[in-house]
Amino acid sequence: MSLRFRNSLTRRIEEFVPIEPGKVRMYTCGPTVYNFAHIGNFRTYLFEDLLRRYLKYKGFQVTQVMNLTDIDDKTIRDSRAAGVSLHQWTAPITQAFFDDLDSLGIERAEHSPAATEHIPEMVDIIKRLRDRGLAYQVDGNWYYRISGFPDYGKLANLDTAGLKAGARVAADEYEKDSVSDFALWKAWDEADGDVFWETELGKGRPGWHIECSAMSVKYLGEHFDIHTGGVDNMFPHHENEIAQSEGAFDHKFVNYWLHSEFLLVEGRRMAKSLGNFFTLRDILKLGHSPQAVRYLLLSTHYRQQLNFSFDGLQAARGALERYNDFVANLSQYQDGQSNGLAEGYTKTAADGFEQGLDDDLNISAALGTVFDFVRDINRLAAGRQMSLAERDEALALVKRFDTVLNFAQKATSLDAEIEKLIAQRNQARKNRDFALADRIRGDLLAQGIVLEDTAQGVRWKRKT
Ligand code: AMP
Ligand code: ZN
Repeated sequence: MSLRFRNSLTRRIEEFVPIEPGKVRMYTCGPTVYNFAHIGNFRTYLFEDLLRRYLKYKGFQVTQVMNLTDIDDKTIRDSRAAGVSLHQWTAPITQAFFDDLDSLGIERAEHSPAATEHIPEMVDIIKRLRDRGLAYQVDGNWYYRISGFPDYGKLANLDTAGLKAGARVAADEYEKDSVSDFALWKAWDEADGDVFWETELGKGRPGWHIECSAMSVKYLGEHFDIHTGGVDNMFPHHENEIAQSEGAFDHKFVNYWLHSEFLLVEGRRMAKSLGNFFTLRDILKLGHSPQAVRYLLLSTHYRQQLNFSFDGLQAARGALERYNDFVANLSQYQDGQSNGLAEGYTKTAADGFEQGLDDDLNISAALGTVFDFVRDINRLAAGRQMSLAERDEALALVKRFDTVLNFAQKATSLDAEIEKLIAQRNQARKNRDFALADRIRGDLLAQGIVLEDTAQGVRWKRKT
């Protein structure tokens, strides 16, 4: 079966066919760097990570752009309130964002352009829109004339028939019931302080929506494969991106639009404005691992809402432990006699994983397959019913799964250190120096390393 996605634009499941065979160009709306991202935001970035990694698993060469919105109403508001420059405000938040991506095992996009470094490109698109009669100026602000773009409302499925022509909105964010001509360029005013650019459009700054039209065309071209974001981005942000890009370049902008659902807390959307959010840092401070957060946020299908709870996080930790124990078990498996079943299990797992993810990234089906595989192979391992060659096949498959899931604990330079201490402990036990052996076990435990004495020798794992 081929790879299929649910396209928000057509509201249908469609087979994925890239514009250029073997290559995928995709754009991901990145963070507005006015404050630390919360784990709701990271649910969306993790969905995009899954998408990106799975495209690579399927053999596509991926070029992804994740922009940084370092200028908009909120970044200006908060930097001004703190009495620092825009850049002084956004730079540490941007750094923290990248640190969080790393903790969560999210692969970096090929390009992470900052909006403030692409003002000329934005001005350029607005000028094109002006020349095509789609942008007009009022009191120094430039607005997009939505009545000039008949497709306006297609993505968000808006009924634009009864719209009041000429109604305008200057704010970056607004609701569906105020569909209006929106700001492309905002004339400077007192509240902007020293944040402005002198351009052909006048002294001012860009609106939020034009940023993504400008940065996508620069790095991906006028027409590309996939555009992603959270569902709240669909209107007005993505609707406006389509109007800008197709209005300026006069042909299709994006083939597949994919939107992920919200992370909720007690039934309500996790949002900065509602104050019901956790940052990744909040969760890590409570002693949870970033891998457990990754597991939890990834393991529900991206188009289903997910309620965050600490019980859920605990369950994620259990599943991760099962997965990592399996990898350790398999790596340390010695030899046995094949009973002929391992090969079939490995093939079924490889097929099941791919069938699941091909189906609009159905992660629940894919993980179901993975854990069936864990159970079946563990059973063979326990009975020594698998040859080393079969073990190698099974291990290679999990490693391949892990290029997508990224759940396995990574070997670090510390591992060698740990192995050395374990060898010393083994020696101490041989010498019947149990005090030393216990001390080494205690020291390792203090570093989060748990030792298990098994029939096949001592095994160690990190506490998750
Ligand atoms: P922002 O920094 O506010 O522009 O949001 C960054 C990304 O997080 C966008 O793609 C949003 O759609 C997404 N997002 C915001 N809140 C949530 C949530 N509660 N659950 C999932 N995604 C969210
Ligand atoms: Zn965007």
